[in-house]
Amino acid sequence: MESVKCPYCEEYVAIYPEERDHCEDKEIYECPNCSKNFEVLAELILKYSVVGKADCLNGANHKWEPQFGVPKIHFRGKYICEDCSATKQVKEELATKEEWREYYTKGCEE
Ligand SMILES: [Zn+2]
Ligand SMILES: [Zn+2]
Repeated sequence: MESVKCPYCEEYVAIYPEERDHCEDKEIYECPNCSKNFEVLAELILKYSVVGKADCLNGANHKWEPQFGVPKIHFRGKYICEDCSATKQVKEELATKEEWREYYTKGCEE
């Protein structure tokens, strides 16, 4: 939850993002302390943080981990690097057309 300072009485006023109309970036708030209205401007603040060491971005090999998800057949043969966002597909492991056809005829059992 965010809060802003009332420009009149300098009390902190809680902002509830879920009550906001997302088409508007400005909204009128009433200070619960002094009952004055003021406009609140919503700003998206981009935060940066380090994900961690990524040796693969410094010349080492990617640490490939198999991807999991539903349906399984869709993720087979797909890998994602543990250290960075790189992905790869191993063609030989990907589901074949026949397997997809079987999957669709059987329905979503997985
Ligand atoms: Zn106030
Ligand atoms: Zn990587």
